[in-house]
Amino acid sequence: MSSSARRPPRRREADRTLRASIRDLPGIGEKRQALLSALGIEAVGDLLAYPPTRYIDRTSFARIGGLRAGEIQTVAARVVKFELKPVRGKRLSIAHIEDSSGKMRCLWFNQPYLKRVFVPGASFVMSGPVRFDQHGPTMVHPEYEALEGDGEEVHQAGGASEGQDYLVHTGRIVPVYRTRPGLSQKQLRVIVKQAVEAYGGQIRDLLPGALRQSLGLADLREAVSNIHFPADLGLAKAARRRLAFDEMLVLQTLFALARKEKQHSGGTSHPTDDVVARFTSRLPFELTASQQAALGDIAADLASPYPMRRLLQGDVGCGKTVVASLAAASVCASGGQAALLCPTEILAEQHFETMKRFLGPLGFSVGLLTGGLEPGERKRADRAVAQGRIDMTVGTHALVGERVGFKRLRLVIVDEEQRFGVLQRTKLVRDVPEAHLLVVSATPIPRTLALTAYGDLDVTVIGQMPPGRGRHTTRLVQEEERDRTLKEVAAGINTGLQGFYVCPALEEGSSNLVDVGAAKAGIQRLLAPGRGIEILTGRTPREKRATILKGFLANRIGLVIATTVLEVGMDIPSATVLVVEQAERFGLSQLHQMRGRVARTDAASCSYFLMSDSASEKARARLKVLEATFDGFEVAEQDLLLRGPGDIVGTRQHGIPDLRFASLPEDLDLMLRARDEAFGCVLGLGASPEWEGWLEAVASLRDRARSIV
Ligand code: ADP
Ligand code: MG
Repeated sequence: MSSSARRPPRRREADRTLRASIRDLPGIGEKRQALLSALGIEAVGDLLAYPPTRYIDRTSFARIGGLRAGEIQTVAARVVKFELKPVRGKRLSIAHIEDSSGKMRCLWFNQPYLKRVFVPGASFVMSGPVRFDQHGPTMVHPEYEALEGDGEEVHQAGGASEGQDYLVHTGRIVPVYRTRPGLSQKQLRVIVKQAVEAYGGQIRDLLPGALRQSLGLADLREAVSNIHFPADLGLAKAARRRLAFDEMLVLQTLFALARKEKQHSGGTSHPTDDVVARFTSRLPFELTASQQAALGDIAADLASPYPMRRLLQGDVGCGKTVVASLAAASVCASGGQAALLCPTEILAEQHFETMKRFLGPLGFSVGLLTGGLEPGERKRADRAVAQGRIDMTVGTHALVGERVGFKRLRLVIVDEEQRFGVLQRTKLVRDVPEAHLLVVSATPIPRTLALTAYGDLDVTVIGQMPPGRGRHTTRLVQEEERDRTLKEVAAGINTGLQGFYVCPALEEGSSNLVDVGAAKAGIQRLLAPGRGIEILTGRTPREKRATILKGFLANRIGLVIATTVLEVGMDIPSATVLVVEQAERFGLSQLHQMRGRVARTDAASCSYFLMSDSASEKARARLKVLEATFDGFEVAEQDLLLRGPGDIVGTRQHGIPDLRFASLPEDLDLMLRARDEAFGCVLGLGASPEWEGWLEAVASLRDRARSIV
């Protein structure tokens, strides 16, 4: 039903299927086709699957004599008179209507053609907000629809459902759609109504009947009809649930099919040797139980004949990097190459140092491959990688961008930082289908998102923090406390504390941003002479960056001023202070990620989120979540609720099909069920002949899906 992706070229003979062009509907010419197309509607099926954004209940009719001010109400009445009155340079159309209980005026600005509509004696249903003026009850710009007979029948029949089936806009539960200028609600509603009536019979319900029954889901034909024109809101709800389940099942079936394909691509098996023991014995700490469990998941994947597709997630600072490095060590120990992809050069350089520290002593060679290398260096690095002389390559997108020839790439670790998406992941996996993939997310990902944006991956959660983390204080700072706060911060830095000072990046054309230079000048005045302060951005030359990092690690530098989150992910355990300018510009998860950077040891730490005066009330309320909790999963859930999934992982950019009927997290239970069913069926655990139609239909969507999963 929702398939418009692969439509055969338009044929001239009438197509009676749901793939028929909307041009085949009466009343749709080029202009309307273009308008509908802009709404993503090309085929009749798209129209049937176009969800109303809300409904207006116009089932109950009021008597004019009983109207209440301020409410949207519906009346059925007869036109007494129509007037066109000039008012303050405009023309006012006035329809005077009456029923047996009283009289009312309906007003429109301009629209003189209404004179031909509201002919005295004709009956109409009018629906709109009611107000009272010196003339009595009035509706401004009501929705209207002609009635057959006089309005009294409506009341005698006890409402519109009996005998008034032809009503589309009034006297019923009325759907409201997203539309565009040039296509009114009324026009769109009529088009949808026609499509439902003419093509609804073509809908085939492919969902296995047993599953439908066990979930108590509505029949698909009924659901499609009821999502648009329900007799009551309960039916609309049931319809939405059914359509929501279908779309989640499609998504999960696609994920399951992708998984099945990977199983065929034959992974390479990596029996882990004692390298894990050698690695961990060198660590200055014990792995947490959670880290060990994660390692267990990964080891099982590496030992299986299929390539790993795993998301490793957990709160910032829970120790994901160590676990990922252990995975790399295992692969290198069995003769494979590993690659670690980072979102920024700064992070790549830092991870390069970390990997050298972890893997070097075990006898593995570690290389750096970023876009910032000199051409000569780059060439040498490429060659070393291609000849298999580098075991572990750390790099940026450059690694993905141009195809780097690895000799025996066996593991790709993506340090996600929420910048990579499904598409890049897909490309990576397609280039080297037999390689294992470990996606490490920077901040916790709520379950609902893990099931959608990361639905192609298995998920491991590190749910425990290493012991002995110090207390963290989060303070929201209003503009008027700003100077005092910065003084306090500077005083701390002067006594030897270290920290980050984050300013939103200067975007072109935007004013009113604190630029890093000004921020530096501002706080430097408060610092003791000689206390080091440096600016570190993506544009800082590489040598300079290395010097700054070194100076910071040695505490010669007290404060690093940075733009946005370019630098998050840096592991400078001695930094315990964070200041963020215009914190309202950042997402909650981003801010949480940043404060995680300064809470990595047993020392007490503090974040100051400065808010500008122009921050909205809503933004302030949002930031309060951070004051209330330091649990990244809770922050992520709140972020998801407040901003919607698209903004958080940028799902839209990344080609995740939009969920139109389902809404998360409310439909989480249905999503889990859809996932179980789809994976069970596709991976052969619960396949039955009943599923054949469904699988065939979804498989036919896969051309489009190939760019998704
Ligand atoms: P993230 O999950 O944010 O990537 P990291 O792996 O960078 O976290 O770890 C955060 C800090 O905690 C690092 O300094 C790391 O060395 C340290 N760490 C990791 N695991 C443990 C552990 N089990 N016990 C103590 N410290 C640990
Ligand atoms: Mg990390």
